[in-house]
Amino acid sequence: MSQHILVIEDEPAIADTITYALETEGFRCTWCATASAGEAALAEQAVDLIVLDVGLPDLNGFELCKRIRKSRMVPIIFLTARADEIDRVVGLEIGADDYVVKPFSPRELAARVRAVLRRYAAVAQATPSAPVAKASHVAASSDPATAGKTSPAPSPRFQIDEARMAIMYFGTRLHLSRYEYRLLKILVQRPGLVYTRDQLMELAWDEPDASMDRTVDAHIKSLRAKLKAVRAGYDPISTIRGVGYALKENE
Ligand code: CA
Repeated sequence: MSQHILVIEDEPAIADTITYALETEGFRCTWCATASAGEAALAEQAVDLIVLDVGLPDLNGFELCKRIRKSRMVPIIFLTARADEIDRVVGLEIGADDYVVKPFSPRELAARVRAVLRRYAAVAQATPSAPVAKASHVAASSDPATAGKTSPAPSPRFQIDEARMAIMYFGTRLHLSRYEYRLLKILVQRPGLVYTRDQLMELAWDEPDASMDRTVDAHIKSLRAKLKAVRAGYDPISTIRGVGYALKENE
């Protein structure tokens, strides 16, 4: 089964070049000329990767990326034409997996597509297929009524005390800011599940649009420092380059 690439690009000549190059490499392509057509295609078909033009007629590609990322983890490569767009992509504000600057060589784009798909495949292999079940032991540790029945043993690393908005790490209470607490709780409840920065922001922040993705990085950094203060030489949080963060499993 060939991998399916959704190309969202309003200029037919560029879209033609892209689909030709990708189909030559054995990918299957669907072309949409607007953001709304792209969203409709995503709702109907499984897509392995999206090539997304920033300058679309109906919705900015960045906005479309944000909307897509709220519900799915599909990799996205941006096509950009302007320096200010490149700055936004590079600044990780958007959570892009990669970008290609127009005019680009079709072979270069195909190589980027392959590289991003490889990276996602590696992450998927490292991530268990049933992360939801893993969450039960955390819930059990803060809910004595259900503890010890069907759930595995509570994680020795983390205990969440919802009532006090506190998290214990190897038995030591962490002194966390509100957003550090929320971020860590999200990660701890689903060990192994990879969250994008957008997803973390959406889940942990009251007004996600008022902040920038960099804020997630900053809070993860301060969280790591606090975790390290309890146990030096061990970092329970994985950074998945170009994607986001996850709690390491089984350590
Ligand atoms: Ca365009």
